[in-house]
Amino acid sequence: MAGAAAVDEAVARAAKACREWREVAPGDRARLLRGFADLVDAHAEELAMLEVANAGHPVGNARWEAAAVRDVLHYYSGAPERNHGRQIPVPGGVDVTFQEPLGVVGVIVPWNFPMLIMSWGVAPALAAGNTVIVKPAEQTPLTALRLAELALAAGLPEGVLQVLPGAGEVAGARLVEHPGVAKIVFTGSTEVGKEIAAKAAAHVKRLTLELGGKSANIVFADADVAKAAAAAPYAVFDNSGQDCCARSRVLVQESVYDEFLERLSEAVRGLRVGDPLDPATEMGPLISAEHLERVRGFVADPYLQGSCPQGRGYWFPPTVLTSNVTDRAFTEEIFGPVVSVVPFAGEADAVRIANDTRYGLSGSIWTRDIGRALRVARAVESGALSVNSNSSVRYWTPFGGFKESGLGRELGPDALAAFTETKNVFISTE
Ligand code: NAD
Repeated sequence: MAGAAAVDEAVARAAKACREWREVAPGDRARLLRGFADLVDAHAEELAMLEVANAGHPVGNARWEAAAVRDVLHYYSGAPERNHGRQIPVPGGVDVTFQEPLGVVGVIVPWNFPMLIMSWGVAPALAAGNTVIVKPAEQTPLTALRLAELALAAGLPEGVLQVLPGAGEVAGARLVEHPGVAKIVFTGSTEVGKEIAAKAAAHVKRLTLELGGKSANIVFADADVAKAAAAAPYAVFDNSGQDCCARSRVLVQESVYDEFLERLSEAVRGLRVGDPLDPATEMGPLISAEHLERVRGFVADPYLQGSCPQGRGYWFPPTVLTSNVTDRAFTEEIFGPVVSVVPFAGEADAVRIANDTRYGLSGSIWTRDIGRALRVARAVESGALSVNSNSSVRYWTPFGGFKESGLGRELGPDALAAFTETKNVFISTE
């Protein structure tokens, strides 16, 4: 549990390493990152099992996550050699831009997807020539520490990637306040995100914030209702609902509401909740006793609950609520396996309900009408939408939130831009 002094030492080490790292030839930086990706691949099974122990993820999901970490590192290993500036026509000379690294970047990670979210910050930051200090969540330091060891083993110079487990209010806060840290990437709750933004203002520190969500899954009567209903449980119960992209508000057009609810109920009854080490398991436990109590506090009169193991462990069953749009369960982020289903009359009604939230992270639109799909996608105030699909994240494309769901974008080329400062240089030819 690093204290403030340990953070200060790490920042000094990272600043020194940064002076060397940014001078490493782009091709060599690319090779080192590729080597890191290859080592993650070679240790994928070990990392997956460690994530099961770390966060209680079902082993099938954890294997997918280890592969996704490898893919993100591999994708950004192509960046150092392509991170070029522009030449802009101006009178009286030549004008060029450079994409300069920011310096030392602090990446503060939550417990819900520990190694995956860490990789989203680390890979583009390193590719752009920054050095990184990761502060994992108190509950889940294991995979972060192992990834740092693998980075060293892959030949990344000492100090380029450091992992400092510690308390948010101590180690996390010190990273945010340290004048030597140029940027903070924070994924976590909206409340802590606001506190970090206020503190970062003291140094005009660069920020990427990925915060909470209360995303809508909008099902129109002209959709493939069977497909939408079959997919809906995974859109909210994956990772036991501990997912910022969880589509925890399902809005269903009135004429297919009963059919949808019936089909959803059947899918929820069939969800396999249990031992994360059993490959057949689809949903595991919650992260902690404290979180279990919080989730339980949202559920008063469930329409339906699936089954879950009894006894030891932080178990909560997949739960369906038929809420009013004013219910706390419908408006607040629960971060657990609880979905609220409400009917809507028409398109305008659906958009109004979907946007009636302080959040705007992701969401889905189910319809066979392409015009409607695009109209609604443009009208919903959200950063990552999918049509006839419940997936939110593809590492090639920008990911982030509108409104209080965040600031800036991760993944894709956007993340690379977010870890560089554009410098403009004019050379007179007169
Ligand atoms: P949290 O905000 O409590 O903690 C997140 C991280 O911040 C942890 O590492 C914690 O130690 C650290 N931290 C806490 N207080 C701090 C402070 N004052 N200064 C600096 N760092 C501090 O969130 P959590 O409970 O770990 O995660 C759940 C939340 O994260 C949910 O609200 C969820 O929606 C959000 N989340 C968002 C995304 C996204 O991409 N938008 C992804 C995952 C999780």
